[in-house]
Amino acid sequence: MYEGVVQDLIAELGQLPGVGPKSAQRIAFHLLQADPVDVRRLADLLVEVKQRVKFCSICFNVSEEEQCRICRDPRRDPSVLCVVEEYKDVVAVERTREFRGRYHVLGGAISPIDGVGPEQLRIKELLSRLSDPVIVEIILATDPNLEGEATATYLTRQIAPLGVRVSKLASGLPVGGDLEYADEVTLGRAFAGRQSAT
Ligand SMILES: [Zn+2]
Repeated sequence: MYEGVVQDLIAELGQLPGVGPKSAQRIAFHLLQADPVDVRRLADLLVEVKQRVKFCSICFNVSEEEQCRICRDPRRDPSVLCVVEEYKDVVAVERTREFRGRYHVLGGAISPIDGVGPEQLRIKELLSRLSDPVIVEIILATDPNLEGEATATYLTRQIAPLGVRVSKLASGLPVGGDLEYADEVTLGRAFAGRQSAT
């Protein structure tokens, strides 16, 4: 245990995902020894990112503007929506360069154990987007695990009656994993080989 602010810093850093107590200590001591100018820049950036970055009002991707870069891009196909759990999955799908449509970020997956039901996700918002007749296909790209599958099944039941084509990524993604960790070749293939979910 360290004293005062150093201990506070270690405790805060330890709250970050993937940072265990040892790493928290290492980062804290790195910051203590670093040039004050560099530390200041990092601190300012942390504050700035929270002030400037918000969520796209259409798809809920992260954005510095009211609408994200993808929703604003007229070259993106408005007829196909790719539904993902988190905005980091948008990055994963973008990396494959297989997808030229637009997105909808749910903000998680249905997980009764964690108390996450459909009403906690941006499903209502998705369904209201589907009232736009320009959208003809939904690609469900939830994580290949239990929660992701449950979410995809739920969404298929909700969307199919609306007359919109629903497809799912082809199998081949590592089961139990997280979309963002799939390599881009595998994810790209899963996209190209997508199958009807109904
Ligand atoms: Zn957007």
